Amino acid sequence: MPDLAGRLIVPTFAEPHAHLDRAFSSAITGWNRSGSLDEAVERFLGSVDRMTVESLTPGGRRALRLLYDAGVGHVRTHTAVGGPLGFRAWEAVEKAATLPGVEVRQVAMPISSNLDAREIAAWLREAADRGAVAVGGAPWRAEDPVAATRAAALLAAELGIGLDLHVDETDDPAVDTLGVLVAAVTEAGLAGRATAHHCCSLARRPERAARAEAEALAAAGVAVVVCPVSNLCLQGRACGARGLAPIRWLRDAGVLIGIGLDNIRDVVVSVGTADPLRAAWLVAVAGHLTGEDDLEWLGRTVTGGNRRICNLPEDVDEGAIDDLLAIEAASLAEAVALVPPRQRLVG
Ligand SMILES: [Zn+2]
Repeated sequence: MPDLAGRLIVPTFAEPHAHLDRAFSSAITGWNRSGSLDEAVERFLGSVDRMTVESLTPGGRRALRLLYDAGVGHVRTHTAVGGPLGFRAWEAVEKAATLPGVEVRQVAMPISSNLDAREIAAWLREAADRGAVAVGGAPWRAEDPVAATRAAALLAAELGIGLDLHVDETDDPAVDTLGVLVAAVTEAGLAGRATAHHCCSLARRPERAARAEAEALAAAGVAVVVCPVSNLCLQGRACGARGLAPIRWLRDAGVLIGIGLDNIRDVVVSVGTADPLRAAWLVAVAGHLTGEDDLEWLGRTVTGGNRRICNLPEDVDEGAIDDLLAIEAASLAEAVALVPPRQRLVG
């Protein structure tokens, strides 16, 4: 919707995949020298003792200020919980999340991927008591990915919250837990409340097989969030692939798609952006989505798609002026193409 000055008026952005608990935390973890996910996980787990509410809060606060300035009004952040870390990172995010104008919701991400383990269910139950909006985790890295994925889905259903999993974040085409996820979401009755984040290996499988999997995700009501900065940094180092899930095939299948920011200057990826439009721009370039209709679709995805995934209304509510943004662009396509300045409206 254009305003009188020709600016584009949209609701504030919703960010579907952040990690506020470790933003700007290299002083604690060191940098990821190899650029691999394995080194990042190893460094993270080796630094847990130094992760306190006091040491983690400033990074989360700094990230939130950047997100606010970029026009983000809602953040869904994956927070590490359990084991020797307990809920210190959770409490750090709560402490950081006091900036007016940015609502923060936490997804509980156990520090172990074996989501079928008994102690992990206890951590997740505590997280739900503390207000978690979804069960998170990376069951594709578990000793038994099938059991871990199914346990996560059934527990999310029992707790009455969503399921937000890191899925197949690898170049290896043989790593494929999407079918397992579809079955688990269907069994647990979580259609419309489940999101698969990353899905990188899907891009490495033959087109016919990948399109069939995309159709199964759509039919099961599983959304997909791509995170271009981390996917392009972590994946493709050895094989030369681009690392992004095959967005065109997912779009053709009718999958609800979101675009996430993921890491901001942390142990996983040392670059980062807090700007959803810059992330959409990167998807346009890296995903060859540069037709005018593609750019318009990316604009709708990073505004409406992200809001739907975060369970927010998609459309402009003219009564909620504090939740509106004026972008210096004539269209959503132009907003993605140029990443222009923007202003939050104040009532
Ligand atoms: Zn992530």
